[in-house]
Amino acid sequence: MEQSKDILEKEGKFLKKLLESTVKCPICNYNEMRIADYLYEMPYVGKVLLSTGKCPRCGFKFNDVRVFEASNPKKIIFKVDKPEDLNALVVRASSASMKIPELGLELTPGPMAQGFITTVEGVLHMFKEITEFLCSQPNADKRACEERLKEINEAIDGKRTFTLIVLDPEGVSKIVHEKVVEEPLG
Ligand SMILES: [Zn+2]
Repeated sequence: MEQSKDILEKEGKFLKKLLESTVKCPICNYNEMRIADYLYEMPYVGKVLLSTGKCPRCGFKFNDVRVFEASNPKKIIFKVDKPEDLNALVVRASSASMKIPELGLELTPGPMAQGFITTVEGVLHMFKEITEFLCSQPNADKRACEERLKEINEAIDGKRTFTLIVLDPEGVSKIVHEKVVEEPLG
């Protein structure tokens, strides 16, 4: 998501570029995909690492965002029950799963997982895009799709309460809001 950098530039302060590293492309296995790391300071979040890279062979774009000082594996629970809650910032590292049980939505990390920083509303839009994509497939259940998209749109409009849960085995994700509850991931 290009949006991550915009949010970091706008709300945070750029500190420095770290050493570049080289990783293997998860798509074409090319060994020399260069990853650049940029360090930002964000209010209420602390230091945040933005990693970006592009495979010169297949064009795969890698993006990750993580809280610089890792904590223990954790479960982050945010009960969204006011329209203002949709503006809370979410740092989702590529290592983390994300779910909204009330809306039947779940995102699990795979080898191509991307990390990003966005708002709760941004998370809903991402789930909406994924749902629209899945629903465009020939074997999709059209009625179930319509119902799900209606629920997501209501959530985006602040007309539904729901719980956003982030499960991060590396402890490098974060949701910024006073109502957020963090539990150890066991
Ligand atoms: Zn590649």
